[in-house]
Amino acid sequence: LYDVLIVGAGHAGAQAAISLRQLGFEGSIGMIGDEKDPPYERPPLSKEYFAGDKPFERILIRPAAFWEERKIDMLLGKRVKSVDPAGKFVTVGDREIGYDKLIWCTGGSPRMLTCNGADADNVHAVRRRADVDAMMAKMDSVRHVTIIGGGYIGLEAAAVLTKFGKTVVLLEALDRVLARVAGEPLSRFYEAEHRTHGVDLRTGAQMDCIEVADGKATAVLMADGERIETDMVIVGIGIVPETGPLIAAGAVGGNGVDVDEYCRTSLPDVYAIGDCAAHANRFAGGATMRLESVQNANDQAKTAVSHIVGKGEPYNAVPWFWSNQYDLKLQTVGLSTGFDDVVVRGDPDSRSFSVVYLKGGKVIALDCVNAVKDYVQGRAHVLSGAALDTQQLADPAIPLKEVGL
Ligand code: FAD
Repeated sequence: LYDVLIVGAGHAGAQAAISLRQLGFEGSIGMIGDEKDPPYERPPLSKEYFAGDKPFERILIRPAAFWEERKIDMLLGKRVKSVDPAGKFVTVGDREIGYDKLIWCTGGSPRMLTCNGADADNVHAVRRRADVDAMMAKMDSVRHVTIIGGGYIGLEAAAVLTKFGKTVVLLEALDRVLARVAGEPLSRFYEAEHRTHGVDLRTGAQMDCIEVADGKATAVLMADGERIETDMVIVGIGIVPETGPLIAAGAVGGNGVDVDEYCRTSLPDVYAIGDCAAHANRFAGGATMRLESVQNANDQAKTAVSHIVGKGEPYNAVPWFWSNQYDLKLQTVGLSTGFDDVVVRGDPDSRSFSVVYLKGGKVIALDCVNAVKDYVQGRAHVLSGAALDTQQLADPAIPLKEVGL
């Protein structure tokens, strides 16, 4: 029996355990994770780790010895199959592990293609260390890579692969990349960058299926009959939250587990945090959503844990995110969901500019490309929900902090 049992040894789980000890919590803490490694940073999987610029040890969230020193029991390589909210225990294999408080932070598993050939040997997702290691092990014999999905992960993978000298085709079904998360100016900028770097980036691309020979994908077949020869397929089309056992136990949820402002689920003494937690976000006008970001994982961990130790503040953190592609560092703050106006600040051709999103005249989010100052100064505007003069906003000569009504 653990005073706090954490299921999922990723970003949110690690931060929950760390914060509990930082807050002086002296009770017993257990953490169960189905990967074999202690918690590590996931963002480098499509960036520095994939590129070979950082070894695995450097992406560990804490050195392996940390967990033992802080008396955090790790049960790794094990998957929780079910939760019994009445008996207050989880089941791992044939073992039952009890809890006083349960923190559920299992993230999500990659959404996979459902077409023929989707399960071929060399069709990969990018979610876990094992996914990237499997790709790396094959890389020497790979020349042509087809990436399905023009979200951040697909685009970052394309940037790394061109650096390796691979021929990359990127297929996006919608009419622009990053359509789910960014405005058109940002999408068009990144499309042009990738094409400049030699990526055959196609939007509105309708694939049909994957051609397979001897268990391996050999080509992606398009709906119009085109055949794109390939040695490897990378699928980056989003995740499905890992909430099965909690929902089966009666937790309310749909796309993720529903949580309140303290990250409590509808089950007694069960919290959910990170990618799998559907919460009302103030920065999206209170809309219920799941956020897939390190910021959200860490901040929700702090919210849940401070509620557990009795100091609870409602979840209210400003969303932020980043993406590295080529020599471009994108930093975003706020949530652009539902924007009704966009201001481009600076010239995208200079490769340093920002896209400012407004709703009802108020700044709700910024995407800043190689523009750290805008990112830092724009945050205050997102927090205050200020209505700003769009002409001033568009003028990069006026620092954002000086832009007024
Ligand atoms: P995870 O970190 O996924 O951890 C969940 C863990 O629980 C996993 O180890 C999983 O295997 C395990 N698990 C699942 N089910 C069970 C079970 N039943 N029993 C036991 N264990 C289980 N975010 C950013 O902010 N910036 C970025 O640049 C960025 N880049 C990214 C690049 C990639 C390639 C990926 C995959 C993600 C990226 N993200 C980025 C998103 C960020 O990594 C996630 O939002 C974050 O990891 C979420 O943390 P989490 O703890 O909710 O889930």
